[in-house]
Amino acid sequence: MDLFPEHDVPKKQAMAVPVLIPLALDQTYHYLVPDDLPLAIGDFVTVPLGSRKRHGVVWGPPCPTGELDFDPKKLRKVIKRHDLPPLQGNAHKLIEWVARYCLAPRGMVLKMMMSAPAAFEPSKPRMGYSLTKIRPKRMTDARNRVVDMALFGALHSKGELAQLSDVSTGVIDGLVKAGTLEETPLPEQIPPAPSPDFQTLTFSDAQQSAVTSLCENATQDKFTVSLLDGITGCGKTEIYFEAIATVLGKGQQAVVLLPEIALTGQFLKRFEKRFGVYPGSWHSAMTPAERSRIWRMTANGNLKVIFGARSALFLPFHNLGLVIVDEEHEAAYKQDDQVRYQARNIAVVRGMTEKIPVVLSSATPSLESWVNATTGKYSHIKVTERYAKAELPEITAIDLRADPPEKGRWMSPLLVDEVTATLARKEQALLFLNRRGYAPLTLCRKCGHRFECPECSAWLVEHRHKKALCCHLCGFHTPVPTVCPSCEAENSLVPCGPGVERIAEELTERFPDAKSAILSSDLVTSISEQRAMLEDIALGKYDLIVGTQLVAKGHHFPKLSLVGVIDGDLGMAQADPRTAERSYQLLTQVTGRAGREKTKGKGLIQTYMPENTLMQSLLSADRDTFMNAEMEMRRMGALPPFGRLAALIFSADTRSDVTALAHHFTKYAPVSDRIRILGPVEAPLAVIRNRHRARVLLKADREIDIQSYLRKWLQNAPKITGNLKLVIDIDPYNFF
Ligand code: ADP
Ligand code: ZN
Repeated sequence: MDLFPEHDVPKKQAMAVPVLIPLALDQTYHYLVPDDLPLAIGDFVTVPLGSRKRHGVVWGPPCPTGELDFDPKKLRKVIKRHDLPPLQGNAHKLIEWVARYCLAPRGMVLKMMMSAPAAFEPSKPRMGYSLTKIRPKRMTDARNRVVDMALFGALHSKGELAQLSDVSTGVIDGLVKAGTLEETPLPEQIPPAPSPDFQTLTFSDAQQSAVTSLCENATQDKFTVSLLDGITGCGKTEIYFEAIATVLGKGQQAVVLLPEIALTGQFLKRFEKRFGVYPGSWHSAMTPAERSRIWRMTANGNLKVIFGARSALFLPFHNLGLVIVDEEHEAAYKQDDQVRYQARNIAVVRGMTEKIPVVLSSATPSLESWVNATTGKYSHIKVTERYAKAELPEITAIDLRADPPEKGRWMSPLLVDEVTATLARKEQALLFLNRRGYAPLTLCRKCGHRFECPECSAWLVEHRHKKALCCHLCGFHTPVPTVCPSCEAENSLVPCGPGVERIAEELTERFPDAKSAILSSDLVTSISEQRAMLEDIALGKYDLIVGTQLVAKGHHFPKLSLVGVIDGDLGMAQADPRTAERSYQLLTQVTGRAGREKTKGKGLIQTYMPENTLMQSLLSADRDTFMNAEMEMRRMGALPPFGRLAALIFSADTRSDVTALAHHFTKYAPVSDRIRILGPVEAPLAVIRNRHRARVLLKADREIDIQSYLRKWLQNAPKITGNLKLVIDIDPYNFF
């Protein structure tokens, strides 16, 4: 009996899927699912959009086209499904979370997760060469060597086979033509996995208890956050490596965020020493092919450990088991373009969505993390001794009012004496000044003219090695003139104040026999060059080092015993709630470079205000007093982490346009007695690249959903068009 007469067979329903495309779009678009191409949520696909093809991700389950509230005839078909592991549910959740929190279009967040365009293009497989039964009519020695080599098991690429048999690749081509060798695609190379037991260390008691707590967390598949709060040189890296060993043992992946690419080299080496192989690295200076390779291996789980910049958080991990944020206090973790996010926070969110442990590591934690640790929200893992009993440097202030440098010089006689003594002991000294270039300001002695950027509200900084005056905001530069453009006086220009180049000049004059290195982002042209220089410093090839904050972070220079800070007060006068915290962190970090091994280190800080709290806490190595004082100030001011901030940054081609825009827009702010609206005001940097700027700052209680409030505001307000622009910055870190 025919149970299903033909006319009763339900017609197969046409199905559609929503696809999110990595563009500045928040909504998904529906596409028809081809009959022969079953699709599921998370699949990477190619779809038509306008007249172009775009790659995207299936963002929801398939549904019958009849259920859509628009004409199914208008639907276009999915073109292709990529042969890639689908984006996982946790990554999907992360994207949704970040988009909601940062008020960014979901497509822009997805774009960060698809940041290896070459991974979506068909890649030519690498070919290997194997032997057939056919032997060539004409045999030569060279051909014989290739045949012998190809007889032994492994499949080699053309280059390898030629090299191993000591022939040119032409010989291989000849053998392919003769039918002796045939081409077969090589399997994708799987890098050897790091081995948790490759080179284990013996830990001191102080280290061991930290190792135990971190590893305990790492064994559990549970969301936890630990603040690894250990003084410089206590071995934090070695300690968190043990947590990595634990998750590797469970077959999971780990990601380590570093604030500075220049640092990666050192870490990769240390990792190799501990685990036997190099980890993968991820940063902006990679080639498209490298990006694609790392991206794919992260997605299929073949690559176990990644060290990378903040963007590594958005890699499509297959089986992530641990997130580590090294130097978690670093301002570099805040991204201020495209999607504005703070990677430290997103690391915690990734831990939450993946249900895995997160470790934040620092010698000078951010106030936010410190408060979370002291209130028990994070576990607080402290290490208060340096490894191998190396001592913390002794920090002294040089009161510049009492011991000023000679005219035209920047080093106090006290500092000069200490450098002299250090060189005499054949040790290294580091002079730190967080200011690039030669002089921050140039003026005319005759008429007082000051050189300002024509497109920004900023002074031009003289860079002597480039023989130019440069704008640090927009990159504008012009040769240093010989005649004042304002009064036409000749040779009347004077550089005012020091930058690192000027300190280097003073060192060369004072210590002509010492070999000195300058480390500033302007002077190193490539990452590899920078790494080489850092290595040479570590090997003791230089006596004196002059540097900007590039040298403050994480480096380990065994012979360095003196750190001199040229201007301990720099940066203290800004309208930014984190100014004091940052100064404290930077000065601790940079002086912490001294005396990391046997020699006792010394830190000397030149200052005009030796009596302020910050300086006093630094001198007595009493961080908690400083942190408590800062915490009270933030609490009183309802500043983060006790309150929430959001910034609205308006810009336009003219000053009147931006003022009008900011005032008009602010009129539409919803009324709330728990949110204060400060501004609009002209931004401290009123013009950047010819764009005039204005700002509004929102201050809210901690419990307020500032995103919903802002969304409502944006809905009420008229659309911003033309040359006018508004950016929203949740939890701003820059206030200029
Ligand atoms: P931190 O990051 O806390 O400043 P590091 O992790 O850089 O400290 O450690 C400082 C130095 O001490 C490094 O050279 C490190 O390899 C070494 N070290 C730390 N702990 C150990 C240990 N248990 N065994 C051997 N060397 C160690
Ligand atoms: Zn400029």
